[in-house]
Amino acid sequence: MVDTGWAGTFPELLHLLKEKDIDVGDIEYLVITHFHPDHAGLVEDIKDHGARLIVHHAQVSAMGTLKKFFKPEHNFREIEAKNNITVSTPESRTLLKKAGIDGEIIPTPGHSEDSISLIVDECCAFTGDLPNLSLAAAYGDPELMDSWETIQSYRVKTIYPGHGNPFSL
Ligand SMILES: [Zn+2]
Repeated sequence: MVDTGWAGTFPELLHLLKEKDIDVGDIEYLVITHFHPDHAGLVEDIKDHGARLIVHHAQVSAMGTLKKFFKPEHNFREIEAKNNITVSTPESRTLLKKAGIDGEIIPTPGHSEDSISLIVDECCAFTGDLPNLSLAAAYGDPELMDSWETIQSYRVKTIYPGHGNPFSL
């Protein structure tokens, strides 16, 4: 699974999974594109059912800052180290291979310092909140442009953003 939702929305997530005939216990690995509250609020709820969280080295320090986004009434559960796997980009390839995916987790900063993308070789990329290429070009932000250049070097065809519909590159 790539990304979760806000803390406290686990019942809604279970409902959505059920609609797609997926049992939460079938989720083996969880990847979070960046540790913002609308992407990472349910990590511990999903880990409860056996999933392991894959964390890229570029994300380690941001994980601890997540709690500042939540108020007590959100019932946010802080992410624990248990059942997390911290990887470099090359290590992510080895790990993803075990999950049947040819691809990598790569740092793609621009929206946030800890933003990563999950690449499936010559297929697609899950890019979280990275602004799309035309927006990035309009901003003229070199960090964003570098991130897109890296993504394109994997010859992906489809982008799955964190919000909104997939689009072709
Ligand atoms: Zn974000």
